Amino acid sequence: MDLSYSAEDEAFRAEIRAWLEQHLTGRWAELRGLGGAGRDHERFDDRLEWNRLLAEHGWTCVGWPEEHGGRGLSLWQQVIFHEEYARADAPARVNHLGEELLGPTLIAFGTEEQKVRFLPKIVAVEELWAQGYSEPNAGSDLANVQTKARLEDRHWVIDGQKVWTSNAHLSQWVFVLARSEPGSERHHGLSFLLVPLEQDGVDIRPIEQLTGGSEFNEVFFTGARTDADLVVGEPGAGWAVAMGLLGFERGVSTLAQTVDYGRELDDLVAAAEQNGAVDDPFIRDRLAQLRVELEVIRAQAMRGLSAIGLGDDSAAAGGAGSIFKLVWSNWHKRLGEVAMDVAGPAGLLARPSGPAYDLDEWQRLFLFSRSDTIYGGSDEVQKNILAERVLGLPREARG
Ligand SMILES: Cc1cc2nc3c(=O)[nH]c(=O)nc-3n(C[C@H](O)[C@H](O)[C@H](O)COP(=O)(O)OP(=O)(O)OC[C@H]3O[C@@H](n4cnc5c(N)ncnc54)[C@H](O)[C@@H]3O)c2cc1C
Repeated sequence: MDLSYSAEDEAFRAEIRAWLEQHLTGRWAELRGLGGAGRDHERFDDRLEWNRLLAEHGWTCVGWPEEHGGRGLSLWQQVIFHEEYARADAPARVNHLGEELLGPTLIAFGTEEQKVRFLPKIVAVEELWAQGYSEPNAGSDLANVQTKARLEDRHWVIDGQKVWTSNAHLSQWVFVLARSEPGSERHHGLSFLLVPLEQDGVDIRPIEQLTGGSEFNEVFFTGARTDADLVVGEPGAGWAVAMGLLGFERGVSTLAQTVDYGRELDDLVAAAEQNGAVDDPFIRDRLAQLRVELEVIRAQAMRGLSAIGLGDDSAAAGGAGSIFKLVWSNWHKRLGEVAMDVAGPAGLLARPSGPAYDLDEWQRLFLFSRSDTIYGGSDEVQKNILAERVLGLPREARG
């Protein structure tokens, strides 16, 4: 496996690095490091503006084909883009779901009208998207979706409830998996609908998290409406579209995540040096272990991507996505735990802030990273996939 970059790729790296150095200055420099998992509330409006500046300069949707408004970058140039973006500590981007999940899904499954209507506004960061899959009784078991949709007067009319809908309160649209064929079961009879959030039939109620933030929501649909032609794929055949979308979930940006993790680890080592925790051999060992594991995770991500780049499906068939999800999410959770060990008893105390409390970055990381092994497919579900689909073990008993 050759992991070196070509001269053309290195020239591209110099271009994006120079652009970031030139533009991440003045008022934008204040946004460095803001946003990200568990911290989406940080200077959201300013980060939205920054994202629109990126769009003006062609730095959104960089992997999409040019005909759909992207840059048509090669896989490795996308990796470089995300690496440099993370290295510059540029503010977290705000439309992950539109750019990395819905956009590629529309390109693959959408009608021409849907592409023309929605893709340019994702590229320009004018419309933000939320994901309406999970329900109170349909999380890991997504095929149990009960939200209903019926066609009436050239509209879909939607009734039901979604939950854990990240950023619905900041978005204009949501893609919804709903049961459109009465009496259908499991993955049959579902439709994948594009639904505007700003309407009377939609009620968005924030859920307060352990961290004190409210990034996700319950979303209630009571006679909510969307145009009849805003179904992606055939009505009743939405499962294939929904699964196609999940296939885009672990794209190249996950490699950049390892750059962010590297920075978090550097900061933790610095904090341990500062408060003397690094003198504790137990903590030193754990920090060293985290460093080694992160290198392994990065090499594994590169191997998976290079297989995709070479058109080799064996990595996917070998469960590379599930293995990667298992290792990075557990690594990040351990980072949070070591951070609490480094903080010592001070880690137990939150700072009072007005009527509420405020957490420092390590407390927030510790608490938010508990969710890493849940979203995007829980640990247990990834292990089931590996056991059944890769190792060929007997299927678990299902009730
Ligand atoms: C931070 C965060 C953001 C999220 N954002 C969104 C979003 O934007 N949109 C959206 O639709 N959803 C979102 N989710 C929801 C997420 O997809 C679900 O939480 C996840 O699918 C798990 O479903 P559940 O919470 O219903 O748990 P359940 O499926 O009820 O699982 C409960 C426990 O049982 C285990 N379990 C379940 N089935 C099995 C099995 N067959 N074998 C062994 N163990 C099993 C699970 O691993 C878990 O430990 C988000 C979740 C989090 C934490």
